[in-house]
Amino acid sequence: MTTKYSIVVPVFNEEQVIYDSYKRLKTVMDRTYESYELLFVNDGSRDRTSEILNYISEGDTHVKVIEFSRNFGHQIAITAGMDYAMGQAIVVIDADLQDPPELILQMIGKWKEGFEVVYGKRMERKGESFFKKKTAALFYRILRVSTDIDIPLDTGDFRLIDRRVCDEMKRIPEKNRFIRGLVSWVGFKQTAVEYIRDERLAGETKYPLKKMLKLSIDGLTSFSYKPLKLATYGGALLSFAGFVYMIIALGMKLFTSSTVPGWTSLIVIQLLFSGFTLFILGVIGEYIGRIYDETKDRPLYIIRETKGFGAAKHVRAL
Ligand code: UDP
Ligand code: MG
Repeated sequence: MTTKYSIVVPVFNEEQVIYDSYKRLKTVMDRTYESYELLFVNDGSRDRTSEILNYISEGDTHVKVIEFSRNFGHQIAITAGMDYAMGQAIVVIDADLQDPPELILQMIGKWKEGFEVVYGKRMERKGESFFKKKTAALFYRILRVSTDIDIPLDTGDFRLIDRRVCDEMKRIPEKNRFIRGLVSWVGFKQTAVEYIRDERLAGETKYPLKKMLKLSIDGLTSFSYKPLKLATYGGALLSFAGFVYMIIALGMKLFTSSTVPGWTSLIVIQLLFSGFTLFILGVIGEYIGRIYDETKDRPLYIIRETKGFGAAKHVRAL
C-alpha cells in the first residue's frame, strides 16, 4: 500500500509536549481520509521522550519512530525523516505545536493544486523573546542580500514538499545542512501559506543561542561567499584610511612644529587592525571547518533503532 502523506517530526527532550502533539497531528491527519504516517525522529532525547514514543507507536500503526544514537541536531533529524519518509507529500513540523498542525490541510490543498513546495510563512511570532524575534528577522534579511538563491523571508522548516523534491533532497550529501535554504535551492514550484506562530505548548526552547548561531552561520556559509569578501573590501577600506592618516601625520611632521602625539593614535589603529584581521581569520575558519567536515565524510547520523517500519527498507541515496 502506498502512503500518501508523511509527517516528519524532529524531537529533542519534548516529554512535556510529545503526546499532545501526536494527538493533534492524528486528529488533523484523520480528517484527510487518506493514508499517512507520523514519523518521529528522536534526536537523542535524555528525558522520557523515548518511552512515550514507544507507547504511542505500540498503539497506532500510523506511527514510526527513528531513534538516534545521540543528539545530532534539528536539521539532521529532519534529514533522517526525509530519508525514511514513504509518502507522496512530506510535511516537516516541530514537536512543540508552535506550528499549527491544522495548517497542514491548507498545505495539502496547495499541493493538490500543483505546487511542489508549500512553506509556512510566519506573519507573527508569539511568546518568543524580543531578542529572538529581532535577531531572526535580521538574519533572514542578511541572508537574503547575501545570496542569489531565493530563500523566502521569515520561514522556518515547517513546510510540505512533494516526493520529487524529497528525492532530490536525499541526493544532497552536505554535512552542515541548512534545510530551508536547500529546499529553495532544489527549486520546483513553490508557494507560501501564511500563519501566526504560536507559543510553545510547554517546556523550553531547544535552540539556545549557541545552536541558533551555528544554524545561521551554516545558512550564510552554505549559500554565500560574501563573508569572505569582507576581507577584500574591509581590508581595502582600512588600507585607504591608513594611507590618508599617514599623509596627515607626515604633513604635520614636515610642515608644522607639532608632531602627532603618538600613543592614542597608535593604540587605536593597532586595535582596529588586529581586531579586523582576527575577525576575518575567524570568517575564513568557518569556511575551512566546513570544508573539513565534508572531507571527513562521516555519515550524517547514526540510528540506534527504528520502530513501526515493519520489513520496509530505506537507505540514503548516497
Ligand atoms: N530539536 C531537535 N534537535 C535539537 C534541537 C531541537 O530535534 O537538537 C527539535 C525540537 O524538539 C523541536 C524542533 O526541533 O521539535 C524545534 O526546536 P524548538 O521548538 O526548541 O526551537 P524554537 O521553536 O524555539 O526555535
Ligand atoms: Mg519551537
